[in-house]
Amino acid sequence: MTLRTRLTAAFVLVVLVPLLVGGLVVLRALPASTAARQAETVTTSARLVATVLAGYCDRARATAEAAARATAGTPGPATRRVVRELVSSGLADGVRVVSREGATIALAGRAPAISEVVDCSRGVAGSTPHLASVVRLTTSAGQPAGTAIASFVVDDAFAARLRGAVGHGQVALLAAERVLARSGPLPDALVRSTLRSQAQVDTIAGQVGMLAPSRPGQPYAVLVALPAARAPGLLLVTLVVIGGAVLLAALIAWLLARLTTQPLEDLGDAAARVAAGDLDTTIEVRSRDEVGRLATAFNGMTEELRRYVGALEASRDELQAGLARLGDTLSSTHDLDRMLAVVLETAMASTGAQAGMVLLLGPDRDELVLSVARGMQERGVPEDLRVALGVGISGRVAQTGEAVLGQAGDGPGQLRPGPDEPNRGSVIAVPLMGSGTVVGVLDLYDRRDADGFDERDLATIRTFASQATVAVDNVLLHEEAQRLSVTDGLTGLWNYRYFTMTVAKEIERSSRFGRPLALLMLDLDHFKKVNDTLGHQRGDAVLVELAARVRAEVRDVDTVARYGGEEVVVILPETDAAGAAQAAERICEAVRRDAFGEPGQVPVEVTVSVGAAVFPAHGGDAADLLRCADEALYEAKRTGRDTWRVATPSTSAATGVPPAS
Ligand code: GH3
Ligand code: MG
Ligand code: MG
Repeated sequence: MTLRTRLTAAFVLVVLVPLLVGGLVVLRALPASTAARQAETVTTSARLVATVLAGYCDRARATAEAAARATAGTPGPATRRVVRELVSSGLADGVRVVSREGATIALAGRAPAISEVVDCSRGVAGSTPHLASVVRLTTSAGQPAGTAIASFVVDDAFAARLRGAVGHGQVALLAAERVLARSGPLPDALVRSTLRSQAQVDTIAGQVGMLAPSRPGQPYAVLVALPAARAPGLLLVTLVVIGGAVLLAALIAWLLARLTTQPLEDLGDAAARVAAGDLDTTIEVRSRDEVGRLATAFNGMTEELRRYVGALEASRDELQAGLARLGDTLSSTHDLDRMLAVVLETAMASTGAQAGMVLLLGPDRDELVLSVARGMQERGVPEDLRVALGVGISGRVAQTGEAVLGQAGDGPGQLRPGPDEPNRGSVIAVPLMGSGTVVGVLDLYDRRDADGFDERDLATIRTFASQATVAVDNVLLHEEAQRLSVTDGLTGLWNYRYFTMTVAKEIERSSRFGRPLALLMLDLDHFKKVNDTLGHQRGDAVLVELAARVRAEVRDVDTVARYGGEEVVVILPETDAAGAAQAAERICEAVRRDAFGEPGQVPVEVTVSVGAAVFPAHGGDAADLLRCADEALYEAKRTGRDTWRVATPSTSAATGVPPAS
């Protein structure tokens, strides 16, 4: 049911119920009041007719007296003339003058015989249908002289004349409970009923009647009957009025409902247009009522929406600009850490993540190592996080190469974290691919202004990660290329090029901070013999093993480089002559201790000679130091090999003394 229908129904009810109740009351009261009015009318009419009838009695008396006066003394032709005139002038229907002996002296019109009449003033009808007045004649001496009678014929025409006095209904005159004359048809039932109820209003057979009983001066009972006003017309009119009022009420209700609901429908249409994307929709505010305020609020909301969408578009532009900047950064930098930081920050900004980290696969490709993190320490992630492949969220993503999206936790449908990974909050983890294999994982945690990340965030980060990983890949390749250009292909030690760069930097630093620095130069003893007896390939293997043994004897901060064929140099920062001597001795010992060779191979005893020089005592630059170290080495060779010598300040004599051992 629409709002308009409901409003219409409500209006109709509100108007209709009182209307119907009113109609019912009117319909109930109407017949009662009509009956009362009719009773009054019929009563009045009956009285009026009775009065008129009494008037006829008076007229008959006056006429009879006139006839009597005309007869006084000498009845004769004069009497007959007067009697005729009395009848012809309508003062009576008949006049008769009778002598004392009973003989008729004069007669005009239809007058009853003396024996048949009763004077109307007695209130009793005679045996003939005549209303008559009887006057006694007397002589001048007061002796009875005869009788004068004036009468009216009581017939239907007389009744019709009486009816003319009231102008409606029917009139009947009754004597001895019998209808004597009637002006028109009357139901017998009404006559019987009114005779019974005497002077009471009676309604029967569609007629309202009342009987005024006879009385002195009115010798007949008068019955007046009116058709009972059942008022069928009035009922119809009432019903038509009510029906019309109902229709009018319905029309008004419909118009009112339309007026009320139209703005709401406009509002609904406008809302639908906005929902369909037409943000320019506004509503004309027609009134200041609730609907008007609603329209105003709606306009405010669409305005707000327009601003919001504008801001959204602006922020999208900003994001695109950010991505472009990221692209520039990625293509121009070869600094992996810096690049990963930019990648992570841009990914966080574009998804609203509050925390995130990038983990890269270690050299053995069996675990992920935390590379860059933002906001992860607050979530309990250690700085040196390592995640085994296949373990936790990151480990599984690295193993499968499939991105995941969800909530971290142990519950059903949640992503089970590793021991050091955050164990709650929303998370997106995508693999970083390089040259077709996984090189790392990008994790994002806790979206700022929503329940969690959604598919759109995942899609954004996926595209983004695939672009980022191309760059990561480039950096890794670049790093590898760079590593190859500064390392020795056989032994993996730094090459000569790297050595010269590093030694210059280290001397510069030592000089700046006033710190010592030592340089060792190693040369295998009689290496030519190894080549000659076991072959060049075995000689190469010895060189590889030598590199490993030397590296094991020095610190991480020391630089071990292949200087030439079977010569190795070591840069020892923060090391003085004593320290250099100790290192040299350790190296000699490490080479001498065990024969070289893989199990199953002919073992080969190898020794090494070492020359050491210290900055600044033996030289102020790389060339000086190298020359002094070389001279010390030569001294070691000269004094029997498998030993070391430290250069002397004069650099002319090798006075290396083994440390106490
Ligand atoms: P010493 O140093 O004790 O005086 O005697 P030596 O036999 O070691 O003499 P020297 O240092 O002059 O030897 C250089 C030899 O080292 C020449 C060459 O056969 C060998 N050699 C140099 N580079 C390589 C290399 O890359 N592989 C192999 N297998 N041998 C090399
Ligand atoms: Mg040599
Ligand atoms: Mg040698």
